[in-house]
Amino acid sequence: MTIEPKRISRAEHPISRSLLSSAALRTLYTLKDAGYEAYMVGGGVRDILAGFTPKDFDVATNAHPEQVKPLFRSCRLIGRRFVICHVRFGGEVIETTTFRGAISDSHERDETGRILSDNEYGTLETDAFRRDFTVNALYYDISDFSIVDFCGGLEDLDAKVIRLIGEPEARYREDPVRMLRAVRIANKLGFEIAEDSALPIPRLAHLLGEIPPARLFDEVIKILQSKEAVANYESLAHFGLFAQLFPETDRLCETQDHADDFVSLALANTADRIDNELPVSPAFLYGALLWPPVWARYQALMRREGCTPAMAMQQAADEVLARAVGRVAIPKRFSLPMREIWLLQTRFDQQSPGRARRLMTHPRFRAAYDFLLLRAEVGEVDTALATWWTEAQNGLDLNVGGDDDPDDDASAPRKRRRRRGGRNRRSAPAAAE
Ligand code: ATP
Ligand code: MG
Repeated sequence: MTIEPKRISRAEHPISRSLLSSAALRTLYTLKDAGYEAYMVGGGVRDILAGFTPKDFDVATNAHPEQVKPLFRSCRLIGRRFVICHVRFGGEVIETTTFRGAISDSHERDETGRILSDNEYGTLETDAFRRDFTVNALYYDISDFSIVDFCGGLEDLDAKVIRLIGEPEARYREDPVRMLRAVRIANKLGFEIAEDSALPIPRLAHLLGEIPPARLFDEVIKILQSKEAVANYESLAHFGLFAQLFPETDRLCETQDHADDFVSLALANTADRIDNELPVSPAFLYGALLWPPVWARYQALMRREGCTPAMAMQQAADEVLARAVGRVAIPKRFSLPMREIWLLQTRFDQQSPGRARRLMTHPRFRAAYDFLLLRAEVGEVDTALATWWTEAQNGLDLNVGGDDDPDDDASAPRKRRRRRGGRNRRSAPAAAE
């Protein structure tokens, strides 16, 4: 069956070549000049039409990967099942995919409906119906600058709606990550998820359990390390998706306001930093997302006989991380600094000038201090503690905070800090070092 697409001409839409990166243009023209069809598709078209600046540009073509590769100086073929070409110009990568073939019963699937084998090429039309949302299936044709729409994406863009192409449940079963993509793209554009596309999500959220943890790690970064982090978190929680990603945190956030406040605040902080073009780190983000269970476990361990803060934090970190990575794989380069941020939290209680000076030279001090500020803001620790550390960094009198302890000054840097809050800690805090 061939469907006649809607086509709008250059005069009827706002996409012009000047809005594309030179890498995207070169990819499109190189393919066209070699006699192939070439289209910009996906987020590039969608974002420009919705009034946003695209994050990257994707290209679709009828050229097969082995035909694409020789056309470019730098082109890597990625993936085994369905090969994608990464065409590189300087720092920019243009993901170039060959039109996918129609999905059929012959596609190998797992028992939940997820497609396992996917290696047939197709036409522009079959490719359109393989994409996830109608607004992601709009093609900008480099041969005449028109936009081609097979799936009603233009109408949905006008109506500000994210709608799955085809039967929603089947499309989520094919690839459950589409549930996360729906949330992310809707919040990014300020769109609604169409009712029929939103309805099955809570029921199918558990299918995220089928997704390889490494892929979920990437998706979590995209969705929560973003300007829309707070709205995304709220949507994920609303649809029962957050519980699939971070079950322990989710349970605590459901029952404890301050856990929920902490996660929300950490995400708002991340979004602000992105807005202000400050660096953000997955270690800090994941550290915050897993902090509620770490803190709960830490507190439980501290009630045990003979447990020092450092030991309790180490153990809490180990336990929570071991469970978490089964869902969302956190690469070591992030989980190590993340643990350091957690462990440093136990050392902030040691308000002595000598310790403070040493702690401030720790490579993870700044991140751990920012973490402490968030904890203070939600009332998990005393604001006086955060203030003490703020002032300590300003090089002010390091006696501040230790004002009623005459020995706790620069001349006695190794003195043990007086216990705060009467919490019963049985061993020497020096074990934290
Ligand atoms: P952004 O790049 O802004 O995150 P995007 O929609 O371009 O958004 P990409 O991951 O770059 O996202 O994907 C490019 C296009 O590939 C999408 O617009 C969509 O057409 C298609 N696509 C991506 N992921 C899927 C998926 N899981 N199922 C079906 N189609 C997908
Ligand atoms: Mg993209």
